[in-house]
Order: sequence, then structure tokens, then C-alpha cells
Amino acid sequence: MRFEYAPAPESRSVVTLRDSYGLFIGGEFVAGSSVFKTISPATEEVLAEVTHAGPEDVDRAVAAARQAYERVWSVMPGRERGKYLFRIARLLQERARELAVLETMDNGKPIRESRDVDIPLAAAHFFYHAGWADKLGYAGFGPSPRPLGVVGQVIPWNFPLLMLAWKIAPALACGNTVVLKPAETTPLTALVFAEICQQADLPSGVVNIVTGDGSTGQLLVAHPGIDKVAFTGSTAVGKEIARACAVSGKRLTLELGGKAANVVFDDSPVDQAVEGIVNGIFFNQGHVCCAGSRLLVQESIADELLSALKRRMMTLRLGDPMDKNTDIGAINSRPQLDKIQELTASGEAEGAERWSAPCPLPDRGFWFPPTVFTGVSAAHRIAQEEIFGPVLSVLTFRTPAEAIEKANNTPYGLSAGVWTEKGSLILWMASRLRAGVVWANTFNRFDPSSPFGGYKESGFGREGGRHGLEAYLDVTGSADV
Ligand code: NDP
Repeated sequence: MRFEYAPAPESRSVVTLRDSYGLFIGGEFVAGSSVFKTISPATEEVLAEVTHAGPEDVDRAVAAARQAYERVWSVMPGRERGKYLFRIARLLQERARELAVLETMDNGKPIRESRDVDIPLAAAHFFYHAGWADKLGYAGFGPSPRPLGVVGQVIPWNFPLLMLAWKIAPALACGNTVVLKPAETTPLTALVFAEICQQADLPSGVVNIVTGDGSTGQLLVAHPGIDKVAFTGSTAVGKEIARACAVSGKRLTLELGGKAANVVFDDSPVDQAVEGIVNGIFFNQGHVCCAGSRLLVQESIADELLSALKRRMMTLRLGDPMDKNTDIGAINSRPQLDKIQELTASGEAEGAERWSAPCPLPDRGFWFPPTVFTGVSAAHRIAQEEIFGPVLSVLTFRTPAEAIEKANNTPYGLSAGVWTEKGSLILWMASRLRAGVVWANTFNRFDPSSPFGGYKESGFGREGGRHGLEAYLDVTGSADV
């Protein structure tokens, strides 16, 4: 049954947009070489002008980070660093509503998700890592692990503030300083984060934010003054960065694409599994590296499960991301929409059967309806390539062994889901799935204490938890942190 909802729009008045934003270098907003515009993907209106950082700007940012590293941050006792991280976490909470609205305006994701997931989790990452700052000697890496130095971080557009938190919180807790480049289409919350660093009195140069496009990212990762690179984004760019960092001596962690299998056995509670499938692929318009984009369903329940799934999909509300009732927001950019359209057209051309929920799409902005493909074979592009949109490819299996074979038949290995009432089957599956994260009877659950990362072309290194600290520490030395 479909319920009609009265509109419940969140107010934009909590956000004060500046006409233009500079680069955040050495604790101040400064001018750069040129500017570009960031738009709302839901309306295509221009939100603000943002600075494009060129070679000299990146040089300045790296120099500021180096100075802050040597003079202040690496020599500050961990308990003092921890206080700054706690302060940042509290400020993120205090400004949560403003940040959620801004994230939704710049990214297109539903306000419900930025309000309930992105911003609270970003604050949680700072709280969690604040606690580690004075306990690194007890993290299991020897008594005195040391920071690495200046870290260059490049993040994508799907969870802008959250990815920033995943990168900056552990780096700072471990005593490193950072230069971070947000994605070209979603720079605004990173720039408000820069204001929060000022509010927290964070020493100048500990965090530097350089906005720009891929060329700015290239300059940053190739810069000789960077000791470690941390990247989240596409596998293609990840490979380029790995080449750029080879033989440079830089430490590198890569969190890349995924094509997760969500495996549903015939003893699963169908309604719960349907909610998990919907959350797995339609959360954040499917712009999620660990999205459950391949549904593997046991043949005996395939018809029943697919009917229930389509019924549920017909109740999803697509539209204004600022409306608190909206489930599916806008696609983040025109190029991303083009990519989703190209891959779904290839699915039809290769013989899979497409079904899209019948929902009207707004006239302006970038939109794609929640879509399911059945009759998918493992060789189809839609079963192999990351679509990064609200598109689910369905395959069937008969035995657990066949499920494992199909689930692992991908170049990626970031995440997976298993739905069954049998605990022994969950353990059997989890030990055979080549995926960094395996969720059992749930999907897309995140916690700062839980390490996240991939196998194969999904990258290497972990973010979050004790494991995530190791990526920002030199564990071979003996000096005090
Ligand atoms: P990219 O991998 O291109 O972008 C990620 C970040 O890297 C952005 O900040 C980007 O800048 C920057 N960047 C781009 N090129 C370089 C480079 N040569 N050196 C250093 N940094 C660079 O992802 P896209 O936004 O182009 O998305 C393309 C596809 O990637 C998507 O369709 C999706 O399949 C996948 N993707 C996967 C993500 C994941 O988390 N697994 C996240 C995002 C995308 P800018 O945005 O300014 O170009």
C-alpha cells in the first residue's frame, strides 16, 4: 500500500553560503589561481564559487603542513592532541543541522541520510580517534609508534564530510598533519570543516584543504613533500595513484570500488531481507562503494523475493532531497548520470530484463529511478562493473558453494552480505567470501571502531578501528608520540 505524505521540507535558513570560498592553508582562507562553481544536483542552481588550487597553492599547503608537523603537532603530547579532536567532534555536533543541510544541497542525498548517518558518523569518528590520541602505545604496535609526517588525502563525492572524517581523524590522532582535497562536485562541507578547525583553535597548518578537480589531486599525491597518500575513489584513479607513488617511498592506502554480493538463502525472513536489499543498494542513490549491487538469491525463493522487492520499491519516494520524507535523492552529477544510463543500456543490450519503479522524475536536476535487472549472467557488464547508482543486478544460485563461486567472481572485494537463519552457514560463508567486510542479516552498518577496506581491486589498507591507526603510524621506531 502506498501512503501519500505531505511535504516536510527542511529549511535552508540554517546555512549561510558565502558567494565564494578560498583555499584553507596555514589556518586561513586564502585566494588561489582560479575559480570554479559548485551546483546543487537536485536543481542545477549555482551554490557558490570555489577556488581551484594549482601547483603553487599545493606547494603552499604542503609547506604549511610540514611546518605545523615539525614545530607543533608531532611534538605535542597525545593527550593534548586528543583535546583538539574532542573539540572538533563537539563542534561537528553543534553545527550538525547546518552541515546536514549543506551536504544535502551540495551532494543531492536525502536530508534524512545526511542528518541521521553522514554527520553523526563523522562526529563519531572524531570522538573515537580523540580517545586513541594518548593511547597509541597500547594499540599493539609497540610502546612508541611514531607519526609518518605530512599526509596527502583525496576523497570522493559520495560521503563528503564522512570521508573527510575517516581520513583526517586518524591522521591527526596519530600526530600527522594533512592536506586534503575534496571532490570537485562536493567541496562545501570540507570548507565549513575548515571553519570548525578555526573555531577549535587547531594550530595553523595542521589541517589544510585544497579544492579543485582531478588535476589538483594529481599534484597533491605526486608532491615530494608528502610522506603518505590516502585515497578513496574509483579503481582507475587508484591505479594511477599507485603508479605515481611507486618508488617514491610514500606510504599508500587505497579504498576503491566494489561490486558487493548480497546473498539471500531460502530460510531468510523475506521481509527483513527485502529491507536489507533496499538499504544495500538504494541508500545514497547507490553511490556507495560497498553497495549491495549484486543480489544473489537462492533459486527456490527467487520469485517470491523479487515480487516482495518490487512491491517495496514502489513505495520508495524519489524527489526533493531536502524533504524529510524522501528516500531517493538526486544523482550527484551529469557525468555520473551519463555513466549510469550507459551501463543500464548495456544491461538491456546484453539481454538482461530491466524493471524500474514507476516514479515521476523532477524536470530539473539529475535523476535515475530505482531499477532492478533480472536474467543477469555473470559475464554481463552490469554484473562486473561498478555502476554507482540505484541499480540492482539479480543472479540466482542453488547451493552455498555456487553462491560463493558467484559472489567471488568479480575483480573487487570490498563487502558482502549474507541472509540466513543458520549461524553455521553465516560462518561458513564469511570464511569463504573474499570481501573486507561481511554483514550478516544486515547491510551497510558502519562504526568507527570497525575496520573497513578491501581485497583485490577494491584496494588495500584499513580505515577505522585499531587497524586503521596502523596506516598513519611508523611502527618500526621507538621515539615517543
Ligand atoms: P574519481 O576516482 O575520479 O574521484 C575521486 C577523487 O579523486 C576526487 O576527489 C577526484 O577529483 C580525485 N581525482 C581524480 N583524478 C585524480 C588523479 N588522477 N589523481 C588524484 N586524484 C584524482 O571518481 P569520480 O568522481 O570520477 O567517479 C568515477 C567513478 O568512480 C564512479 O562512477 C564510481 O564508479 C567510482 N567511484 C567510486 C568511489 C568509491 O568510494 N569506491 C567513490 C567515487 C567514485 P574530482 O572529483 O575533483 O575529479
